[in-house]
Amino acid sequence: MDNTIQIKDKTFVVSIPETDILREVERVASEINRDLAGKNPLFLSVLNGSFMFTADLMKRITIPCEVSFVKLASYQGVATTGKVKEVIGINEDLTGRTIVIVEDIVDTGLTMQRLLESLGTRRPKEIHIATLLVKPDKLKVDLDIEYVAMRIPNDFIVGYGLDYDGLGRNFKDIYTVINEE
Ligand code: 5GP
Repeated sequence: MDNTIQIKDKTFVVSIPETDILREVERVASEINRDLAGKNPLFLSVLNGSFMFTADLMKRITIPCEVSFVKLASYQGVATTGKVKEVIGINEDLTGRTIVIVEDIVDTGLTMQRLLESLGTRRPKEIHIATLLVKPDKLKVDLDIEYVAMRIPNDFIVGYGLDYDGLGRNFKDIYTVINEE
């Protein structure tokens, strides 16, 4: 079978081929071109997982815009929540800007919520969310995700920027784990 891959202990099968991904990325790009024209949006790509989505999306954005890259760094918080994440890598002044967060996948939504809170303190005019994938069944928080390329079931996936233990980000298609409880 050439549509399966093995990464460490897990086997994955192609679930979304590149052509399907690119069709949906194209659609999201046209929605953004339509909605955010004249706003000079600043796209904030959340590394590492969204690098491939960001590249394919940005190639299809035809309105004047800027793109920058951020990371979420875990650090031991003093709050009762324990591990919290800090947004690093923002060198731009976000005051009055139209921001588009570019994410790979929204699962529970907690990461996105944290990002919105953090970016919100920098006084942007508006923040929009663009994500390659959403797992609607896992979503725990109420988020207004305007730009979604694809909605997927609650299974673990790799490829097209997403990894399993650091591996698999380079695959052009999206793969879903098989034989997993
Ligand atoms: P959330 O905070 O929404 O629960 O989690 C979002 C993060 O979890 C994503 O940015 C991604 O790093 C990771 N994640 C969630 N589901 C998957 C998945 O199916 N595959 C991979 N590779 N990462 C995932």
